[in-house]
Amino acid sequence: MANPFLPSLSMTRQHKLALLVGAVALPAIALAAVAVLLTLSVARGVQADSARYDAYLSAMVTDAFEQELVTQLRDAILPAENVARDGATVPEILRALALRSRQFEAPHYVDVDDMTGLSVVMVESQMLLYGDDPTGVREHPFAAVVLRGPTGDVIGAGGWWFNPRAFVATNLANVVRNRLTASPRMYGGLESTRYLCVQVFDAQGHEVVRVHDPGTARTGREAEMTGPFEGFRVRVTPTNEAPASVVARFVSVQMVLIGVLVLIILGATVIGVRYVAQQMELVRVKSSFVSNVTHELKTPIAVIKLAVETIEMGRFRSDAERDKYLRTIQRESDRLAQLVNNILDFSRLESGQQALRLTEVDAADVVATALETFRLRLEDGGFQWHADVPERLPHIKADPVALQHCLLNLLDNAVKYSKERKEIRVIVRPRESWLSIAVSDRGIGIAAEDQPRIFEKFVRVETGLVHTVKGAGLGLSLVDQIIRAHHGRVEVASTPGEGSIFTLLLPLWADGHGPARDA
Ligand code: ADP
Repeated sequence: MANPFLPSLSMTRQHKLALLVGAVALPAIALAAVAVLLTLSVARGVQADSARYDAYLSAMVTDAFEQELVTQLRDAILPAENVARDGATVPEILRALALRSRQFEAPHYVDVDDMTGLSVVMVESQMLLYGDDPTGVREHPFAAVVLRGPTGDVIGAGGWWFNPRAFVATNLANVVRNRLTASPRMYGGLESTRYLCVQVFDAQGHEVVRVHDPGTARTGREAEMTGPFEGFRVRVTPTNEAPASVVARFVSVQMVLIGVLVLIILGATVIGVRYVAQQMELVRVKSSFVSNVTHELKTPIAVIKLAVETIEMGRFRSDAERDKYLRTIQRESDRLAQLVNNILDFSRLESGQQALRLTEVDAADVVATALETFRLRLEDGGFQWHADVPERLPHIKADPVALQHCLLNLLDNAVKYSKERKEIRVIVRPRESWLSIAVSDRGIGIAAEDQPRIFEKFVRVETGLVHTVKGAGLGLSLVDQIIRAHHGRVEVASTPGEGSIFTLLLPLWADGHGPARDA
């Protein structure tokens, strides 16, 4: 009989599951998403600032090198300046220039008339003149400052050919530590470059020199160097200790943590949803079990009551009719007994109290007793039955009562699930190291997809006769558990509309101490 509670139960079940997901998982994921967005926006802010700073600094590096160059030029030019002011000749000026060539290459003097060939940059209100050798002999640039004569007029430019690569390599640390930090636009003084990595690359992209090592932050910025340092590139990147790098690491850790948290929440929700679904399924199944059992108990009781009343009031016409009522009483009491046994066995098995008493058993006896017990029902149902049991069977070790109980359940199902073709066969055979006891019918059969489920407790296939045929969904679950406890197994072969064969496989005991083969 269809359970009237089912539709409403499954509705609320879906709602409750949806509620669980909605109430737990979605808000948690929404909070995680907000946390991710906030973290990313803070990180983006810090990194944008850092990138701006890096870009600004990389542009400042050329200025700082030019300042350094001018300072060193001014320092080195002093003797030449003095002789020029005293009206010295060009060779005298060159000699004076040669006195201070330490950090430079060859000295050079450009007469005021030729100075137009030089480029000029203003470095803190001083003129830095520079240029290449027009003859192309010298590969390095020339850097100079103006020289004045006795009248104070500019007479030319004095300076040196110098190697910018060597200059950059020697002076970068000083430039970063002292020149950059001295700029009025740099806040924090030395602090402002402490966490910065400054690298200079040549035209081929090879690193010439660096101060500090670059960190993880991706805010590094590059600038082309200009003036006498043209052809070099400077790159400024936060070091690993810089706030931008710390934030980058923090964001990575934060993302991993949030990810793990989301996974945990999702995992917990899935487990929770599954658990709740299982509990709801159990409630549904139990309520359907109770309604099935009640129905199955009430029907034979009503039939027995009616038969007893009929006999008691003498409302039968002949002895044969009275016998028929008596047989009905017997048959229905057998059914009642079997159901009650099933329920008792089931609760014993569930609570782990069922202990099998294994003795040496002749399967032929068990089959014969079961068929005898069942004879009335088979006869009344109009069944043809046949037992195919060889005379000399190897003995098995089994609990005869439990084994018989299994057979009765299989016979009961064979009767219940047969329609027009009422044929039942019981075949017993040794099969390798097993004894097989098969009960076959030509009833409604079981669809392949339902076959694995029918051994679960309370499961009834919701098709065919099942709505009209009574059952609690316990029989096969008991059979399966009992046979497993014998180290055996139950097989089913069935075709819908054709019939079913349920086979109990019990191990043959080789020496009486244990099963010949593990189940
Ligand atoms: P029930 O009390 O419903 O018979 P069982 O555990 O004995 O419970 O069987 C479970 C389900 O397996 C049945 O509801 C029925 O759908 C299916 N089944 C069992 N035996 C047969 C059979 N011989 N033929 C067809 N279906 C069967």
